[in-house]
Amino acid sequence: MLRSIGVTATEVRLPAHLDGLDGLIIPGGESTTLSRLMSLYGLREPVADLAARGKAVWGTCAGMIMLASEITEQDPVPLALMDVGVRRNAFGRQVDSFEQDLTVKGLGAAAYHAIFIRAPVIIRVGAAVDVLAALPDGRPVAVQQDNLLATSFHPELTADARIHRYFVALAGGPPFNAAAPQIDTPRVR
Ligand code: GLN
Repeated sequence: MLRSIGVTATEVRLPAHLDGLDGLIIPGGESTTLSRLMSLYGLREPVADLAARGKAVWGTCAGMIMLASEITEQDPVPLALMDVGVRRNAFGRQVDSFEQDLTVKGLGAAAYHAIFIRAPVIIRVGAAVDVLAALPDGRPVAVQQDNLLATSFHPELTADARIHRYFVALAGGPPFNAAAPQIDTPRVR
């Protein structure tokens, strides 16, 4: 998705891979696995340091769980970078995954089609946290705290690149433009 919008992207597996980055996306997947591997490979401190230096960090789904200051379970151990509380698997099991059109603050008037896959939800929002989008029942699913961004859903699975462009702007790239073209070939239709 980043490459489709002209951004140079690289995979981060080891602390040295963080050198020189303008931003970091902690992806979806399984937060307990992310947590264990981040401890094993010594990524916790360097990622916290990157965020403290004002670099843009975005957590999607499991990545959002990792950014939270607290979660409702013992495992995983989050990075505690963002002042939010998060509940994992808040909508149930895999079969309860769903799609929902959202209005996202700052992205323009068009609805954002969000894909939730065994998604977490935000259950507490700190004073410094801006809610960018919420479900129809009011539960927040996209939040920002300065240089930190978190989404419950998977923005890389649609053709809508607005959140990626928003993040790239946060990382010091071109200013966000809601009218910029969409991606031609989304990974999932
Ligand atoms: N359920 C996963 C977890 O708790 C997150 C799922 C996802 O990232 N799509 O880590």
